Amino acid sequence: MTNDCTVRMKRRAMGCEFELVLCGRNREHLVDAANEAFEELVRLEEQMSVFIPTSEISYINASAAEGPVRVEPRLFDLLRTAARLSRETDGAFDVSAGPLVKLWGFSNNSDDFTIPSEDEIGEIVKRVGMSHVEFDEKESTIRFDSPGVELDLGAIGKGYAVREMVSLLHERGVAAGLVSGGPSTVYAMASPPDDDAWTVGIRSPVNRADRITTVRLKNQALSTSGGHERFVEADGRRYGHVIDPRTGHPAHGLLAASAVTSDPTRSDALSTAFLVLGVEKTREYCRAHDDVRAILVPAYEPGSGANVVRIGFEQ
Ligand code: ADP
Ligand code: MG
Repeated sequence: MTNDCTVRMKRRAMGCEFELVLCGRNREHLVDAANEAFEELVRLEEQMSVFIPTSEISYINASAAEGPVRVEPRLFDLLRTAARLSRETDGAFDVSAGPLVKLWGFSNNSDDFTIPSEDEIGEIVKRVGMSHVEFDEKESTIRFDSPGVELDLGAIGKGYAVREMVSLLHERGVAAGLVSGGPSTVYAMASPPDDDAWTVGIRSPVNRADRITTVRLKNQALSTSGGHERFVEADGRRYGHVIDPRTGHPAHGLLAASAVTSDPTRSDALSTAFLVLGVEKTREYCRAHDDVRAILVPAYEPGSGANVVRIGFEQ
């Protein structure tokens, strides 16, 4: 099949810029499909954002400690997937880290940021963990076992949105393209017209203008966490917005972590988990799950150059 036109369209959502690069024969058809995919994106943001008071997730957070809350079937499935990924990563990825995210105040990036005390962190950590979230499969409901539990889909929502957009585009007959949610997650549909895979770059976590490496993708997703996308600064230290839900402290050790696998929902969650887990635990995860590859950038001394750890790649 010859793909003789490419459309490129952008839309802001979920705190970043989503981009579609779609290849096909009929420009009008590609533009229509892209617009439909963006409509789906807006619908998902309105459902999943903790920053939107009328979202379904805000409703769940406000109500699920009082009693079971019925959850829309696809969101219910996503929450089940999130719970499974939390178990698989020994709690390094955990959508119930919401109260910690709020405590550290990454959402407002405020100038008057202060580091929370150990006592505050200890109190909040008690409310974190998927064991506080009970699922009723038959009724499609969830409930929290105590007040103060809050879900935050920040580490999986963009990947999930990319997946839903890709499946809509497939349904509309779009075969090839790139679907990305900012620098966080990109999915490569098939391959570009003149090559057998898409080449996607990973930006340096230290200098955005540099690429640390490239990855060849075909029907695969790449997600990256960390870098200097979002952080707060205090006492001359940077605190990134990914937190180890088990300790309540920001992840440290890696500057950036990327995950490659076929499902963008999973790659998004795993890049966050890998940032928390560090090199050795990520190796263990990839050994147990051979459909997942990782690219990690450990912290390094200024001037000594980045060392990139590739796990599951041939070279
Ligand atoms: P990005 O949003 O840049 O793609 P991530 O996918 O790693 O980065 O998501 C980070 C967001 O997820 C944070 O802003 C916060 O809302 C939430 N979060 C932080 N730590 C965790 C964690 N350990 N598990 C799940 N969600 C987290
Ligand atoms: Mg993530």
